[in-house]
Amino acid sequence: MISAFVMAFMERSRDQVEIAIISTISFMFLAMAQWLISLKTKCPLCLTPVLASKNCAKNRNARTFLGSYRLRVANRVLLSNHFRCPYCGELTELAVRQRRPH
Ligand SMILES: [Zn+2]
Repeated sequence: MISAFVMAFMERSRDQVEIAIISTISFMFLAMAQWLISLKTKCPLCLTPVLASKNCAKNRNARTFLGSYRLRVANRVLLSNHFRCPYCGELTELAVRQRRPH
């Protein structure tokens, strides 16, 4: 992203500067949205946000996907509809809650 700015300013191209600014704003917006959403995705047992970056100790049986605990949780949620918390090791099945009739 910084290299895009440097290239745009070196070439003095208005279009490239606009593209660099738009991509920077988009990246910041997506990073903030990811951060806000990750704080709400908590393990039902230990209440630790499983998609946020925490420096807490992981469960000894916790496994990674491409070196990332968060990526493994996201992968399991999308592909198999359940995940194992990397902090407490609890297996959580995802299901849509039924609304109670009033
Ligand atoms: Zn947990």
